[in-house]
Amino acid sequence: MQILVLNAGSSSLKVDLLDSQSGDRTATLRAQRLGTPQASYSLESPGQARQSTELPGADHAAVLQAVLPTLTKHPIQAVGHRVVHGGTDFSRPTKLDSSVLATIASLESLAPLHIPANLAGIHTAMALLPDLPHIAVFDTAFHSTLPRRARSYAIPQELGYRRYGFHGPSHQYVSKSAAAYLDEDPRDLRIITCHLGNGASVTAVEYGRSVETSMGYTPLEGLVMGTRCGDLDPGILLDMLRSGKTLDQVDDILNRGSGMAGLSGVGNDLRDIEDRAADGDEACRLAIQVLTHRLRKYIGAYAAVMGGVDAIVFTAGIGENSALVRHRVCQRLDFLGARFDEDKNRDAQVDRNTPVAEISRSNSRVRILVAKTDEARAIAGAVGKVAAGGEELAENPPIPIGISARHIHLTQEAVETLFGPGYTLTERAPLSQPGQFACNETLTVVGPKRSIEGVRVLGPIRPKCQVEVSRTDEFFLGIDAPVRASGDVANTPGVTLKGPAGTLTLKEGLICAWRHIHMTNADAERYGVKHGDIVDVTINSSGRDLTFGDVMIRVKDSYALEMHIDTDEANAAQISRGDVGALVSSGKGGTLLRRRTNFDPA
Ligand code: AMP
Repeated sequence: MQILVLNAGSSSLKVDLLDSQSGDRTATLRAQRLGTPQASYSLESPGQARQSTELPGADHAAVLQAVLPTLTKHPIQAVGHRVVHGGTDFSRPTKLDSSVLATIASLESLAPLHIPANLAGIHTAMALLPDLPHIAVFDTAFHSTLPRRARSYAIPQELGYRRYGFHGPSHQYVSKSAAAYLDEDPRDLRIITCHLGNGASVTAVEYGRSVETSMGYTPLEGLVMGTRCGDLDPGILLDMLRSGKTLDQVDDILNRGSGMAGLSGVGNDLRDIEDRAADGDEACRLAIQVLTHRLRKYIGAYAAVMGGVDAIVFTAGIGENSALVRHRVCQRLDFLGARFDEDKNRDAQVDRNTPVAEISRSNSRVRILVAKTDEARAIAGAVGKVAAGGEELAENPPIPIGISARHIHLTQEAVETLFGPGYTLTERAPLSQPGQFACNETLTVVGPKRSIEGVRVLGPIRPKCQVEVSRTDEFFLGIDAPVRASGDVANTPGVTLKGPAGTLTLKEGLICAWRHIHMTNADAERYGVKHGDIVDVTINSSGRDLTFGDVMIRVKDSYALEMHIDTDEANAAQISRGDVGALVSSGKGGTLLRRRTNFDPA
């Protein structure tokens, strides 16, 4: 599928026409200095000489208007737009319509330089190509899986600041390229991806999901960049403002006058800085030392965050080309199991045909790789999936956790015994699974030792009665109930239920619910699991992380994606509302599935 990918900056425009699967380019357009008398663009197609055109005063619309007749000679199936910020609203590629556009516009304060430029590109392209689907791909989306502890700043939460992360398509793309090179599933790997371009960020990709990243609320946090400072004591900002600098001056210093340019005093191009450092320029030497020291610090930190690392990946202009930076960053990483090969590093070269090169020694446990990033290809791939009618499916999207309190399922006959002849259950609140609800009715569960009052009945009625309690409840009641999947009540202990109109002693049906995940067939396909599989799920709780083994997969198209655990399990992991889990493999190189159950859960 041919996808037109637009990346509109404030004074620049990058357009690529490429195949969403092979990545083969049909045309590449680069326009710069838009809105100034020096505006120009160049257009390149395979087998044809690059055409450069001056278009004084041209804006995004003028350039697109000039080149579209050439580009639309080729069939185009969809247009992909890079959008720098999706806030908390967008965690997936999203088809653009007026309401999505309005939401993107409302995010302008999060990226005041980028969002207006992104929108200008989108509006122009939608006006010029009204019959094609237009799909936005967000820089922040890949990082929507950051756990709360990683996305929170230690300032009052009501101020509304949080970490978002950027360069998502690149981190996701190179982590997948690295996994493909290593012949592994990304869900089996912990990867640190270092995107080192003029803007730079590093991400911890744990089993296919971003769990930490160095850019935060804005792309200013983190690594030393071309002209951006990265991490900084916020006290410096206060001091600058107190000492009389204006807001605009501070903005200018931190965003445009810092980083490699600020440290070296010779601009932001690392090639010049490396040359001068080699000639003995002290400021340039310091710039390289600060850049590489900080990245080493992050790599150590991210290995600790993930409890280990399987691969470290360098990408973007500096990551792909600077052997010196890679050498300085990877020295003395042996303690991590990362053994760097100086010769391979010097010779490493990546391009579209050879997208990954290895620079670790053959006995290195941690593989060190150089990978070619291709953001347009990453966007085209995502857009192709959406345009083909399938949603872009994340590698390992988070699974919402639902906590089941003790509850009772009843047959109609039991309802009438307990609540009176002709009685029907009444709905109090819907449950997350479609068609299921909590009832107004409650019962007392009577055990040999003690009773529990007020146990809620869930509807609708079922063919068999079943009482689901936690391990703590079992001890309290004095009955030893087995862990069973819902519906599998053969040879389980009975229990007595007391209602307003009568008492019913069940011969069987008291169980401790087998923790499970409800999902649709499409979900099952996406996670690579089947009905009845047993998997491990790691919980990024706000309190105590826990990996649950023996989690049963239950597939039905009427289900909503959710993992159900009981209150004991939730307490053990200190889980609160909104916490999510992720499928993990049972170990490095292991398969996702450990075994399948004999029982076929209904
Ligand atoms: P990007 O933003 O990914 O285009 O990367 C731009 C950065 O890559 C600039 O700072 C360039 O100086 C740097 N870069 C490109 N080629 C090289 C090279 N051969 N050696 C060192 N730095 C390079």
